[in-house]
Amino acid sequence: MLAELQRLALAAVPQEVCGILFGRNGKVRTHRAAANVADDPVRHFEIDPAILIAAERDARDGGEPILGYYHSHPGGIVKPSQTDANSAAPDGRLWLILNGQEAAAWHAVEKGEFYGRFNAITLDCSGAKGQTAAE
Ligand SMILES: [Zn+2]
Repeated sequence: MLAELQRLALAAVPQEVCGILFGRNGKVRTHRAAANVADDPVRHFEIDPAILIAAERDARDGGEPILGYYHSHPGGIVKPSQTDANSAAPDGRLWLILNGQEAAAWHAVEKGEFYGRFNAITLDCSGAKGQTAAE
């Protein structure tokens, strides 16, 4: 799954890509790409709210729970930015950040060690499958 997300990230350069991760117990089962509807998608990301609402609905209807989100930092480091920290709710969800080559996963929590919002975690996405926005 990571290789697929890295390909999506590279294909979108210089814009950031984003999407939703599904699974439970910290294990990513599937992902769904979303349009980046930020005003400045080269510098920021905002997951298409329609995709987010659909994902919440699917989860409620017995689908895989939303585990977290991914987005890319084209050509940048795979650590959360101050902007990421400002926009992340301390809801325990997973934030996966990738740059086309590297990836790092973070847990959005109250009083995190990084910008007061994130703790670094190990991502488990073995066997995960994904859907692109076109599917
Ligand atoms: Zn970011």
